[in-house]
Amino acid sequence: MEIIKAKTAGFCFGVDRAVKLTYELVEKGHKVATLGPLIHNPQCVADLESKGVITAGELSQVPKGYEVVIRSHGVPYDIYRQLEEGGFEYHDATCPFVAKIHRIAKKASDAGAVLLVAGDKNHPEVQGIVGHTDGECYVFADLDELKAWKGPKNSQSEIYVVAQTTFQVTKWAECTDFIKKDYTNAQIFDTICNATWARQQEAEDLSQRCDLMVVIGGHHSSNTQKLVRVAEKHTGAVTVETAAELQPEWFRGVKTVGVTAGASTPSSIIEEVLNSMSEEIREEQSFAELFAESEANLKPVFAGKIVEGTVTSITPNEVQVDIGTKHTGFVKLSELGDDPAAVLNTLKVGDTLDLVVEKVSDQDGVAYLSRKKLEERKGREEVAKAAEEGTVMEGTVTGTNKGGVMVQVKGVAVFVPRSQATMRRDEDINALVGQDVKLVITECAGRKIIGSINKVTAEANAAKREAFWNEVEEGKTYTGTVKSLTSYGAFVDVGGVDGLCHISELSWNRIKHPSEVVSVGDTIEVYVKALDRENQKVSLGFKKAEDNPWEKLRNEYPIGSTFTAPVVSITKFGAFVRILPGVDGLVHISEISNERVEKVSDVLKVGQEVNVKLLAVDFDKKRISLSMKALLEDEVEE
Ligand code: SF4
Repeated sequence: MEIIKAKTAGFCFGVDRAVKLTYELVEKGHKVATLGPLIHNPQCVADLESKGVITAGELSQVPKGYEVVIRSHGVPYDIYRQLEEGGFEYHDATCPFVAKIHRIAKKASDAGAVLLVAGDKNHPEVQGIVGHTDGECYVFADLDELKAWKGPKNSQSEIYVVAQTTFQVTKWAECTDFIKKDYTNAQIFDTICNATWARQQEAEDLSQRCDLMVVIGGHHSSNTQKLVRVAEKHTGAVTVETAAELQPEWFRGVKTVGVTAGASTPSSIIEEVLNSMSEEIREEQSFAELFAESEANLKPVFAGKIVEGTVTSITPNEVQVDIGTKHTGFVKLSELGDDPAAVLNTLKVGDTLDLVVEKVSDQDGVAYLSRKKLEERKGREEVAKAAEEGTVMEGTVTGTNKGGVMVQVKGVAVFVPRSQATMRRDEDINALVGQDVKLVITECAGRKIIGSINKVTAEANAAKREAFWNEVEEGKTYTGTVKSLTSYGAFVDVGGVDGLCHISELSWNRIKHPSEVVSVGDTIEVYVKALDRENQKVSLGFKKAEDNPWEKLRNEYPIGSTFTAPVVSITKFGAFVRILPGVDGLVHISEISNERVEKVSDVLKVGQEVNVKLLAVDFDKKRISLSMKALLEDEVEE
């Protein structure tokens, strides 16, 4: 017996997505309840239940603390309202193809149109669709039921026609032909899922060449039962849920048997059934594949192809796009860019996006796309061109590692070795993180892309140096950055050139180290004190003439003025008193008191505030004479 397995047998895109989501939640330790059996496959549902998943008939059966998974069939709008009002955490695994029908139903409702639904009124998917319109609605299972419809209550009403995603393709053709003749204003939306269509086409094709068709799937799965109906038009057809239901007598006298499976049949069960029957298994090239191949010749879609997609719907997890072929395009939010939330805020239905195809499933009629990868690709091309032409590029430093820093340039990661990241070895490369930098690409081979920030900095500095020496003159002021400190002064970058500000030029006061006045990284105002053009050396001044305490003394302390000031040091011949920061005057031992003073420390202490009179100032020698005695004499006179 020859066994031919249909290529399309097994999980479709929507079911696969819902099952994966649920298993992922369970693996992460979430408590999960599905609204109704997750898929029409008792074995898969039992496996999930053995892992703690609860199958709830309605929301009231969901225990506290459980997260709700909406299965691929979708639910009426009212359930979303109840989920929100009940404060449930939920995960929406409604198949995007079903969600699209919900949007059409809502549109019909908003437009006051009648919604005609081709499908089984007892099927949860159809109940979900009907639950998205508030207007007039009629569900028909076949042409007879459609003919029984009396038409819209208001003959002027618009008519929207949709189909359950698993509706039989041939019945849909009959029904829509009828609608087109009798209701010329009807808007018909072909919402039969490509996965369903492909499975039915292949089942039809295969059944014409086989003596028997075995359809694997849930006895309550509508798409499985539809496959049986399609197959039995041409040959004998049986359905099994598991290998245990296979009956040997079915195969008596059978030379060729075709095997297909419903969209909710796990591959493990298909394998099990095939192994039980197995003699010779041949993979069939399906009608869908042949069709896809011929179509691909006309309008190929393949991984790596750049396409333009028009946004048809936006959900919190993905964006659906029309790429002008039979495929429905999906872009995950994470593939829209580095900040997908920001992209979502500006994106709207009808916008066009440049995208690259990552993966195509002709069986399911879906294409997975990415904008991020396209940008990366374009960025890689630009970086390669810049490497060839030596163009300076801009990027952002994203992090450091043992060997250097990583820079993001046009979405491409460029490595800059430590020696090429900063001009000086003692500069901290961590300070570069988050900064925008200019760099050249020195090597670009596949994923190995290396750059240099130093080359650009060195060139820029050379240009700045030249400009500096062209326009510098003594007395000119600059805003500079303190680059380093030594015991004898501070080096200040005044535009590509580091000038030295000697320690004596930093403050009018006597200081022990430049760090008492400035720190590395400070931005300070300096002026050019002296230039050595031959050796390209610049001496800078920082302290300001107007802050010179001797000038202040000249202006604010006339001879004869009196004031109170602290004693800062005591010597054999007198005491020094601080008049201004950096300016001390001497009260000679003979000027301390009317009486004879033997030892200065007998009458004065460091820190003591004393009343003094300014007797004389020698500005050249920086000497000041003060007297305490003079004040006492003045008092006696008074
Ligand atoms: S059959 Fe189609 S519509 Fe239904 S879940 Fe699968 S992919 Fe979605």
